[in-house]
Amino acid sequence: MIALVKQERSRGATIKDVPEPQLLPGHVLARVKVASICGTDAHIYEWNNWASSRVEPPRVMGHEFAAVVEEIGEGVESVRKGDLISGETHIYCGHCHQCRIGNFHLCENMRLRGVDTDGSFAELVLISEKTIWKNHPSLSADVASVQEPLGNAVHSVFSGEISGRSVVVFGCGPIGLCSIALCKAAGSDRVIAVDLSDYRLELAHKMGADVLINASREDPKSRISVELPQGADVVLEMSGSERAIRDALKVARPAARISLLGLPEREVTINLSDDVIFKGLTIQGIFGRKIFATWELASTLLLRGAVDLRRIITHKLKFQDYSYAFDLIRDGKCGKIVMEI
Ligand SMILES: [Zn+2]
Ligand SMILES: [Zn+2]
Repeated sequence: MIALVKQERSRGATIKDVPEPQLLPGHVLARVKVASICGTDAHIYEWNNWASSRVEPPRVMGHEFAAVVEEIGEGVESVRKGDLISGETHIYCGHCHQCRIGNFHLCENMRLRGVDTDGSFAELVLISEKTIWKNHPSLSADVASVQEPLGNAVHSVFSGEISGRSVVVFGCGPIGLCSIALCKAAGSDRVIAVDLSDYRLELAHKMGADVLINASREDPKSRISVELPQGADVVLEMSGSERAIRDALKVARPAARISLLGLPEREVTINLSDDVIFKGLTIQGIFGRKIFATWELASTLLLRGAVDLRRIITHKLKFQDYSYAFDLIRDGKCGKIVMEI
């Protein structure tokens, strides 16, 4: 079969012929219709510090997908041939302490699809039943493939009070964009979007952001102090930028909630006394999605029309155009890119 493979320990990836995955008990083989590209895939493609310390080439990339079940392994009961499925990226063990207390997303033996195991940028993907998400028949394959990052946004936005709260979102990549739409759907107060790309801020506007700040031209702190004189009730940090993390602490009002999802490249220095302790902030790390509580909630919101993922899908490309896709992501000139496999 054809797959996009991380072959060399340097920038790039290659489409090549690879052996089809072998069906295992408790698994299904599914034919991939649509795969969308995640920031994680871009890290692997660009071969940044994280990727070079984690990924062992050759590796079939990709984890966001919509695929049709083709072969059913022994013992699988929850899906049938022909079902359109997606999958949780975080492959949990089911028996460690975190799994046993219900924190599957924080499994101590976690493996990531397309990072530690072969992924879904391929004609066929092998999926264990415990990570299958069976899609509602009304969902298109394009939208189904983008539910995984929507789940990150759902996990972030709904990890605290949101209705009636003012919100600042740092970073308007796909997860930030989904978060903006969710905040508005949940009846938040004003939503302020901060990014370095006018293209992405325009998308943020389309998703319902009330105020747009391009941090390459304007200091977010001074603008937000005008827009929200008492400070923000909720700050969602989706960029991983050190400067944005420091700004997030400054623009939060006392006793605010800050949800951190973006991954910084290095350790970040912050003023804990002035910016966290004296302000009585609640800072929470957001990793992945709660399995499967977040998926259930995201699915309901999607089917009820609370968020329209078609708006963040800015490009639908052929699989063969993957290098163009990764260039667009590097340059911040896209929302979500989906590829027809
Ligand atoms: Zn993803
Ligand atoms: Zn576990």
